[in-house]
Amino acid sequence: MLIDTLKLIELTMSNPISRRVLQAGLSRTSNGSTRIECALDAFTGNRQSGYGICDRLYVLAIQGILHGGCRLFNFEANMLRHYARDPIVRRGIVSVLGGIARYGVTKPQLLNAPFLVVWNLTNLCNLRCQHCYQSAGAAAPNELELEEKIRVVRELADAGVVSVALSGGEPLIHPHFFSIVAEAKKNGMFVAVATNGIVIDECMAQRLKDVGVGYVEISLDSTRPELHDEFRGVSGSWKRTIEGIKNCVRVGLYTVIATTVTQLNVAEVADLIRLAKSLGAKRFTHFNFIPTGRAREILDLDLSPMEREELLKLLYQESKTIGIECLSTSPQYARVVLQNSKGEAVAPTHFYVGDGSGGDLQTLADFIGGCGCGRLYCAIQPNGDVTPCVFMPQSIVGNLRRSSFLEIWQESELLRRLRNREFLEAACGSCKYKLVCGGCRARAIGYIEDFAAPDPGCIYNQKAWTELHSFNASERQIAFTDIYVIRSGTGVYRQQGMVLGSSCVGAASFRETNTFSNSFGLEEPIDQRA
Ligand code: SF4
Ligand code: SF4
Repeated sequence: MLIDTLKLIELTMSNPISRRVLQAGLSRTSNGSTRIECALDAFTGNRQSGYGICDRLYVLAIQGILHGGCRLFNFEANMLRHYARDPIVRRGIVSVLGGIARYGVTKPQLLNAPFLVVWNLTNLCNLRCQHCYQSAGAAAPNELELEEKIRVVRELADAGVVSVALSGGEPLIHPHFFSIVAEAKKNGMFVAVATNGIVIDECMAQRLKDVGVGYVEISLDSTRPELHDEFRGVSGSWKRTIEGIKNCVRVGLYTVIATTVTQLNVAEVADLIRLAKSLGAKRFTHFNFIPTGRAREILDLDLSPMEREELLKLLYQESKTIGIECLSTSPQYARVVLQNSKGEAVAPTHFYVGDGSGGDLQTLADFIGGCGCGRLYCAIQPNGDVTPCVFMPQSIVGNLRRSSFLEIWQESELLRRLRNREFLEAACGSCKYKLVCGGCRARAIGYIEDFAAPDPGCIYNQKAWTELHSFNASERQIAFTDIYVIRSGTGVYRQQGMVLGSSCVGAASFRETNTFSNSFGLEEPIDQRA
């Protein structure tokens, strides 16, 4: 789906005339759709009449751009028409064209609205996993009411969001779940669910299928029931999760097994992939360890950069032979696949694009750009807070009770900064793969408390990892809990409490410090604020 969408970046180009035409397409017609949407409807034959003269002229202009792009890149116009008939692909195309209209062609590409919103519907959960980024358990006291959630779904749809992934906590035990899915489907969005699978009996699997859920991602930590149960905090959970996977596969749901890989299970990843295949899953996804939520209490279980590198190579090798897709949420996977395929394959973080041949894949990888936080995707917390990524629960860029989704998406200063790879520092900042990968910004915040810092999970950032581990575990825990580094133009500062709201400059109560900073290769000078 995504490759078809992103190919249009190349097809449409961003020459000034095309861009002017695209900008005009952001305005709405009398039926409430944007002109770009109407033009694509006409292009695909979904709608031929009912437009005014201006709209018809606009449709012709857009068709001219698309046909010209097809000729230029030797791409069959009929093939493009075929792809664009899928309503989800069409939403993606609209988002890309809107992004080009607003921002021009950029690397990585910026979008008018995210492809994906991961929505933690609730904090309520029936398990107590050690690595839970949400520290889920009881429902939070201020979670959105059903009417508010319905309004949010409509806002996401109106903004042009392509797909929504419902997560938690455990979304399937929340009474609003099916109402939200139904509303999202009614509004034309693709719906995925991330679940522990515990409550998916045959009836639930069929219900998920019937309501139109298109993708079910089920977490599994081990091939060994006792290890999974210990990690999940509830005995018998492995058995029920396996049953949940089988039930999803049985009713024909697109089923994915996701594993957070740590020191405890890294040796059995190949076996987990085989188990996923034998159960009928379509995909195995490695979830990168991120030090947030309860995972901050198990930092010593994280993989070293070299262990992660070997794991990513294994995933790529397995994906070529095992017969199911093997992906990773580690953005370095994009680099590893490019390097190990000698530029012949692309596997960007979080999204599957597919294999191909020819040098243009490097270009495509640059457009897709690894870490998608705040650019291709963002997250919503149970109380309506919007964050760049589910793994950045404290980096709140707005709240949907107070602002519209599109306002937050377009106006947040932090999101703007996250979209620009030029802000990256140290090894990530000078890395030749920074457009393809960009490092995991959630790991940079979780470990170094600075979203521009190097991701200490990459072999190119071994220095940061080594320095980080020169602290003993208790020192690290204190540092991660109490101190946050922020950066202005002239130095590195720390503050007690959370600072990563809308701006990283100008927060109150600075506390000077002279530890940490050089250890991570951050630039001099530090501690110069009066
Ligand atoms: S140095 Fe940073 S940008 Fe480069 S590959 Fe490693 S994590 Fe990615
Ligand atoms: S910060 Fe980026 S790479 Fe890390 S989990 Fe979020 S989207 Fe993925």
